[in-house]
Formats: sequence, structure tokens, C-alpha cells
Amino acid sequence: MKGEPAPPDWFTEGYAHIWMPYTQMKTSPPPQAVKSTEGCRILLEDGRELIDGIASWWSACHGYNHPHIVAAIKRQAEAMPHVMLAGLSNEPAFTLAARLAAMTPGDLNRVFFSESGSVSVEIAMKMAVQFWLNQGHEDRKKFIAFKDGYHGDTIGTMGVGDPDNIMHGPFSGLMPEQLVVELPRTEAEMAAFETFVAENAGICAGIIMEPLVQGAGGMIFHEAETVRFVREVCDRHDLLLILDEIMVGLGRLGSQFACTQAGVIPDLMTLSKSLTGGTMALAATIASERIFDAFYADELERCLMHGPTYTGNALACAAANASLDLFETEPRLEQVGRIAGHLAGALEPCRDVPGVVDVRVRGAIGVVELDALGDMYWIRGRFVEEGCWVRPFGNVVYLMPSFTIEDAELAQLTDATRKIVGEWSERHGA
Ligand SMILES: *Cc1c(COP(=O)(O)O)cnc(C)c1O
Repeated sequence: MKGEPAPPDWFTEGYAHIWMPYTQMKTSPPPQAVKSTEGCRILLEDGRELIDGIASWWSACHGYNHPHIVAAIKRQAEAMPHVMLAGLSNEPAFTLAARLAAMTPGDLNRVFFSESGSVSVEIAMKMAVQFWLNQGHEDRKKFIAFKDGYHGDTIGTMGVGDPDNIMHGPFSGLMPEQLVVELPRTEAEMAAFETFVAENAGICAGIIMEPLVQGAGGMIFHEAETVRFVREVCDRHDLLLILDEIMVGLGRLGSQFACTQAGVIPDLMTLSKSLTGGTMALAATIASERIFDAFYADELERCLMHGPTYTGNALACAAANASLDLFETEPRLEQVGRIAGHLAGALEPCRDVPGVVDVRVRGAIGVVELDALGDMYWIRGRFVEEGCWVRPFGNVVYLMPSFTIEDAELAQLTDATRKIVGEWSERHGA
């Protein structure tokens, strides 16, 4: 294409007013203008197509515009987009609650809906603290969380994220201070962790972690043994375990939930990202019977005093029900296994490239870790030139595609990754 085509009017008019996420508006190149989506592709206003390597922030697990989800949203929009959930009920929200209770392990049977992952984590934290308050414990309001963890961008969730994260570090002092420690992997670390927990359990409501993969903190993996150990420590010291499955839940690691892979049942679980197949804003906080029982009483003040305006939104819940249908009718977990196999083979050669620190794959997540990303805009721009939408951050280049991605599309993503990592290495070394 010779010369840059003029962006559409909506872009020019709106770009002067919109505030983009995680973006230095002064130095960042302008965003791509998207016209529509189809399958695993993003179609741009200027006619180019990008293969989406990260499923729109890990949400579009069935690809875009899946007809089954689109039809469910249309039907629901015509019947009733939304009614408030206090004193009223709607079929999609109730059906979804029952389905999530049936799918999740153990007695995770009570589902509270909100509209974003961060909010669902805030609600889990509030439930955990009030669980203790309702039993007369006034001083169990802290959480133990892990370095490299990420649980959202709201003030409460920043407190349980990695304190050194560039997104959250500068805000220390704003958030309630939490106890953020290294994830215990070795025997020595486990012993030290248990000692730390024993000393602090009396002031804590629980422990929060992302099981098996820490996502936004750098795509860092840990073993099922670590998740099991944290569960055991919670049991020994009477702490609640919150597992944040917002990224890893619903198939991403090749099992319905990451916790089932580890054989662990949390007291509270959060889900969002791919819950509606990347179509509508929805999150769920799912509590065990034991948690719910502590709120179930004659006294009004023991109830959960929480209710986002759009909780149980019928449109979003209809989309989520349609998304869950697809997990039942299409071979999602098999597809994840196939993607994992391709990623492992195709990314492996990156290991020999100077400056590459690690190559790792778990489920449908492929990671090439670099010693330093350097010019982030250059590397992101190169992927676009190769017809791919991939958004490296921190020091990782990663792929997290839709489960429905075709073999040729996946190969284009991994070919581009090998090529660009090679070019990055030459620039970087020079
Ligand atoms: C994305 C994410 C969140 C936050 O979800 P939002 O919908 O962006 O608020 C929380 N926890 C984990 C593990 C996530 O990946």
C-alpha cells in the first residue's frame, strides 16, 4: 500500500477525546482503526487484516462473532436487555448461576455477578473479610498475596498485586497494605512461607493467588504442587483461599479450571475474561457453602451489602450461557491441546536466539521471555506489518489465541514470532 490512507472521521474526531488504556498518549503510535472482526481476524478500516494472537486480552476464546453467541445476544436484546437484580430476577442470570455452580468443583455453589474481573476480586475480598466479621472476628482484614501476581487495576486489587509492578508500584500508600510475599516453590521456601503465615494468620482473612500461571505479572508458571501447598497452609491456619481464575479458567490450560488440574478447591473463585466468549462485560465471584452460610442469618446486617447496578445483566448472562454451550458442543479442550503442541514445537527455536531468556508453553499460552523488551513500539509495529495482532509487555512476547484458531493462522503467528524475535535480537545486540 503506497502512502498512508486517511483514517476515518470517527477516528480523527474521537482520538482527540478518548483516553486509551495503559497508553502514554504523547509517545504511543495511534491505535489501529478496526472495522469489524471475523473468526480469529481483526479487519482494519484500511483494508488490512490481522490474525489476533491474544484473543482481545484473553477473552475471545471461541473466536469473534460466533453465530451461536451473536444469536443469543440478539434474542435477549429484543426480549429484555437488563433489569435490576435486587427484588427482580431474570432467566439468563439464574440459569448461568446454576450452570457455574454445577461446573465448578466441590461446593462452590453461590454465584455473585459483576461487570469486570477487578470488581469480582474486590467482591471476593469483601466476602472473605465479612465471613470473619460475621463470626465476631473484627481484625482479620488483611490478605496474603504473591509477588508477580495481578488481580486487577482498582485500588483494592492493586494492593494484592505485585508491589513492584510498574502499573501499581507508584500508588503504594493509597491501597490498604497487604502481605505480598514470594510464591513458595522449593521446600525451603515452603517452610519459610508456612512460618510467615503462622505469624500473620490472626490478622488475615485469606490468601489470594492465580493458580498455575501468573498472567499480567509476566506469564510466569508454577507447579500444581505449589497450589496444593497453599491450600494446605490455608487449612492448617484457618485462612480462606481465593483463586483468581479470571485468565486461566474456562479452558485456557486444557482443563475447565486450573484448580481442578491441581486437585484444589478454593473457598472463593473469580471468573471473567472468557466468560462471555469475549462479547460482553461480565464477571462472577463464586463462593463455597461455608462462605455463604456465614452470611445466611436472621439479621439484616449479616448480608452481603454489595450490588453493582449491572449485576446479573441479562444480555451478558445470555452471552455467557451461549459461550458455555460452545464448551459443551465444540471440542474446546482438544483444541487447546493441539494449540499447546504447535506452540511448543514452533516457539522452541527461539530458545537459541541471543537475548532470549526462556521459552515456555502451558495450555494455549506460549511465551518467549527476553532479557529486556527494549523498544516496545517497534516490536508491536513489526507484528502488525506481519499481519498479526500481538502485544508484548514487560519482557515477554506471548501468544494466547482463540481456541478455534486454524492451523495456518497459528503457524502465521508463530512464524512471525520467530522472525521478529530474531530481528529484535540483532537490533538489541547492535
Ligand atoms: C485481567 C485480570 C483481572 C482483571 O480483570 P478486569 O476485567 O480487567 O478488571 C484480574 N485477575 C486476573 C488474573 C486477570 O488476568
